[in-house]
Amino acid sequence: MSSTLVTGARPLGGEAADVLVRDGMIAAVGRVPAAERDGDTEVVDADGLVLLPGLVDLHTHLREPGREDAETVASGSAAAAVGGFTAVLAMANTSPVTDTAEAALRVLELGRSCGLVDVQPVGAVTKGIEGHELAELGLMARSRARVRVFSDDGHCVADARVMRRALEYVKAFGGVVSQHAQDPTLAGREACCDESELSGRLGLPGWPGIAEETIVSRDVMLARHTGSRVHVAHVSTAGTVEVVRWAKAQGIAVTAEVTPHHLLLTSDLLAGYDPVYKVNPPLRPAEDVEALRAALADGTIDAVATDHAPHARHDKEHAFVDAAFGMLGLETALPVVSEVMVRSGLLDWAGVARVMSSAPARIAGLDGHGQGLQVGSPANLVLVDPDRATTIDAAASVSLSRNNPYDGRTLTGAVVGTWLRGRRTASEGRPLLAEEAWA
Ligand SMILES: [Zn+2]
Repeated sequence: MSSTLVTGARPLGGEAADVLVRDGMIAAVGRVPAAERDGDTEVVDADGLVLLPGLVDLHTHLREPGREDAETVASGSAAAAVGGFTAVLAMANTSPVTDTAEAALRVLELGRSCGLVDVQPVGAVTKGIEGHELAELGLMARSRARVRVFSDDGHCVADARVMRRALEYVKAFGGVVSQHAQDPTLAGREACCDESELSGRLGLPGWPGIAEETIVSRDVMLARHTGSRVHVAHVSTAGTVEVVRWAKAQGIAVTAEVTPHHLLLTSDLLAGYDPVYKVNPPLRPAEDVEALRAALADGTIDAVATDHAPHARHDKEHAFVDAAFGMLGLETALPVVSEVMVRSGLLDWAGVARVMSSAPARIAGLDGHGQGLQVGSPANLVLVDPDRATTIDAAASVSLSRNNPYDGRTLTGAVVGTWLRGRRTASEGRPLLAEEAWA
């Protein structure tokens, strides 16, 4: 019987308590009498630290199969564990695409063989993410992979008829369609900068917020029509927030996520043409960032999701218009949210647990994650030092890629340790797995 006693931590930022973990479950919370401790109980002194349920990421690109030079399930799992995550949803736009039950099972098994984090495959909505013919949604849902989230992320399901059919289909098994909202007729593949005076001045193809807002408006109406659930990936504009707020007030089953980078970084960073800031949807001006923070605080936006998008150097180090879209996110999500939301007073730590653990677990239909810190819950835990300031060093990442937009920034709030079902998976920025397994 293995057991761990975390002493003096503040569950959800509340009063200090001891938390006893035994056989992967939380066995006691409060003052744990000495008699409860076994001789081989590992004691973790967590005085002054905050204990949260393990983080859950709705939006992770692991790149395996197909681009193992950028990330593998193992290296991405290591980055997730270091970042405090105990479950991640692996996006379907790999090569080949996760559009069959076999492909989903392969991702599930790769995750299990690393054992650092629960890797839950996302299924593609359409075959090959081409936007035309529905993928094997039912077979993926009924497989052992138990797929519940479907997304063509990287591409928008732009055809309204296809989106309608997907929503009708996933309703049967309580699934949800996660939409990358980008009307291709308003923002094409080359669009890479918030459409504004800035994009004109920089000479970069504009990506107007309306391309997101029209698709989200359409999708919430399709969700209402079908009685099904739609999830908006990486909300980036104040206008989208208004649409989601209206839809929720109507009782439409819509949920939404925001990325850490859209909560912190602004479009003016593009002035230097550094491709590390090229992401899809693009960084937006400060007014949008303010609206996103407020919407996360008031619950209009349900969850933070990283959109962790590792890229090899040769795909990222190009002229801005030719570089790949995306940024790393797993290792820095908690410090960014701590800095932007907690230190600003917009959220307390219980709020962080809501937006980074319980809400994403609920949206994804993941059992065993995102639960409270009460006796009988699985011991999926993250220990946070709320006062520790860290200067981000891109070179120190355990990801195989280096496209980290926070390099050199100092952020306050750090992950100290992560436990998956009672087993420690990361400690002080290092994954607890043989280096050759993830590097
Ligand atoms: Zn996307």
